[in-house]
Amino acid sequence: MTIFQKIARREIPADIIYEEEDFFAFRDIHPQAPVHVLIVPKRVIPRIGDAQPGDAELLGRMIVASKEIAAKLGVIESGYRLVINHGPDAGESVPHLHLHLLGGRAMAWPPG
Ligand code: 5GP
Repeated sequence: MTIFQKIARREIPADIIYEEEDFFAFRDIHPQAPVHVLIVPKRVIPRIGDAQPGDAELLGRMIVASKEIAAKLGVIESGYRLVINHGPDAGESVPHLHLHLLGGRAMAWPPG
């Protein structure tokens, strides 16, 4: 079981701010911006490169829900960034697909 599955099952505490039947969102334990939330499917897709056509609807709803989460956290006007890290060069550290939603400060481009 991944750490994010344990959070979904409330076996590990987290600040859960949004939940649907098959995905949820909670604040990152090491925030990289004033707003840093992870949007996570409850079933494990290890990483975006493992996603299958059958995952498209779920992943699409996660992306669409990000605007509701951004609005709830007050960054819909100021702006926010969605990030998915795949593999070592991208800095993936938890093998359970997640979207980072980052906001609340100006961000550089390209990312470091
Ligand atoms: P990745 O590097 O895989 O793209 O992102 C994993 C993220 O999960 C990191 O930003 C890290 O801080 C966060 N994270 C890891 N373990 C926990 C945890 O137990 N609770 C919470 N809330 N976030 C976690």
